[in-house]
Amino acid sequence: MDLAAFQTFQASLHLAAEQSTAIVLRTIEFSETSLIVTLLTREFGRVSAMAKGARRPKGPFEGALDLLAVCRVVVLRKSSDSLDLLTEAKLHRRFRGGERSLERVYGGYYIAEMLRLLTDDHDPHPNVYDLTIRTLQQIDGIGEVASSLTYFDAQILRMLGHSPGTDRCTDCGSKVMGSSRIAFSLSSGGIVCNQCRGRQRQTISVRGRVIDEIKRLQSTDAELPTKVPAELYVELRAILNRYIQTVVGSVPRMQPFLPSVTRTETNV
Ligand SMILES: [Zn+2]
Repeated sequence: MDLAAFQTFQASLHLAAEQSTAIVLRTIEFSETSLIVTLLTREFGRVSAMAKGARRPKGPFEGALDLLAVCRVVVLRKSSDSLDLLTEAKLHRRFRGGERSLERVYGGYYIAEMLRLLTDDHDPHPNVYDLTIRTLQQIDGIGEVASSLTYFDAQILRMLGHSPGTDRCTDCGSKVMGSSRIAFSLSSGGIVCNQCRGRQRQTISVRGRVIDEIKRLQSTDAELPTKVPAELYVELRAILNRYIQTVVGSVPRMQPFLPSVTRTETNV
């Protein structure tokens, strides 16, 4: 189809052109020349769109559709169930984690996977988009990967209404008396008091300091760069992983590749 014909076709479908900045979350080969891309756009949330000609050597998107690239896009939104159409993508910033370390590459993949799992098509969350940009700057640059990803998880869960309960018993609402260890219930989504503990299906005993650290990381005041204390990290990551599995209903594929330790500045 030539351009004029395409424009007529496009007009006939009453497509609305939408412009936004976007982060590339996934690309799938569709044909010899086309890709299906999943984008997180700032204005419209997650979008899946067909990128025609994207696989041609000198195609119209020129490197803008690499994983985690940040670009300016124009998407034609279809009114029916069919895929949206990506007509423009102009590269702003490429993800360069791969030039630094495997840990940074995996960190980037993890972020992309979490965004695919936790967000919905056409459900915009500009704060999640901005959080992702800030986190990628750490992962892609010299920020500490383990702490940055833990912060990302705590913040995105809060922004999307999935924060684990860390203040009161998530079953009866009563105050949980501070002690060195607190019961965390996966079925009720947070800490539980001693009375409620017995009727939970799955509880994990967690150090009170780990709960305090989760509380700190998910607060609206927390910022990047941040540092999770090394002595809390392993336990915190483990509970967060289990909690996220409960929220998304599966084990994220990149979860086993998360950093196993936090790093100090001397061993980056
Ligand atoms: Zn209770």
